[in-house]
Amino acid sequence: MEQSNETILFGDRADFAIEAGVDAITSQVWGHLCVWCRGVMLGDLNDPHCGMAGAANGFRKIIANSVESLWDESLNGLSDLDAWNILDGAIYGMHGDVEVADDKPAEQLHEEMLRYSKFDFLTGWDEMFDDCKAFILCPPNKPMRILCRTFPESVGLGLDISRSAFVETATSFVKWFDEQSERIVDGRNFVCPIHGKRWPTLVCKHLVNGEGLGFIEPEPMHGPDESAPDRSAWCDECNRVRNEHRGWNEVSIAFAGVTPICDICFEAVRKKNQRV
Ligand SMILES: [Zn+2]
Ligand SMILES: [Zn+2]
Repeated sequence: MEQSNETILFGDRADFAIEAGVDAITSQVWGHLCVWCRGVMLGDLNDPHCGMAGAANGFRKIIANSVESLWDESLNGLSDLDAWNILDGAIYGMHGDVEVADDKPAEQLHEEMLRYSKFDFLTGWDEMFDDCKAFILCPPNKPMRILCRTFPESVGLGLDISRSAFVETATSFVKWFDEQSERIVDGRNFVCPIHGKRWPTLVCKHLVNGEGLGFIEPEPMHGPDESAPDRSAWCDECNRVRNEHRGWNEVSIAFAGVTPICDICFEAVRKKNQRV
């Protein structure tokens, strides 16, 4: 597990890897993430503040069902393109970019969707995969194969990755994500010692009892529950350290000493510290 400035790399980019970093932990884990297949990036690592639970659960599901189950005998001997068309047709009702005008009965379509949905990979998992459609296969006695329409032309439609790299990478990523999730501030359980049960916000430790320290507030991020704005703020000194480190990393986060306070206290802290 290599830790660079703001991301952690699980696995080997030249085989299979997941690269991820946390941007904020509030009512959920927010961050940036991508997948590497033989050096090709899938997803957008430069898209910050995305949810990551979709990716974590996607990988969790694949490992739980065991990668060996990612095969169907109807795919035996097929080219990548033929396999793609079967999967895209069954799961998304598409052949390439053309919608399939299918005259099969709805029940059969539904059955095929269920039969092939296990091959669905990355598509719609989280915002960083918005432009990505991929499938994952595990042909018997062969390496795993990732199919993706957005691989570079020189690659074609499919790439092999080793089973062990996939399983180890996915397992450590899921474990890491679960550790981050344990730090989630739960809005339903947050109790302010002064104001009782309120929505939590996050501020640096300096702001809590400080005066005139400056009040830097990024645009609020919204969690799944719009009534729970994920608000945060930090002081001028934290902002200086944050800029020095080009964002939040282990050092700047440690310096800030992120502290949850309630939304009423947040406004009080703002009044005391904001410079007009
Ligand atoms: Zn501070
Ligand atoms: Zn309070």
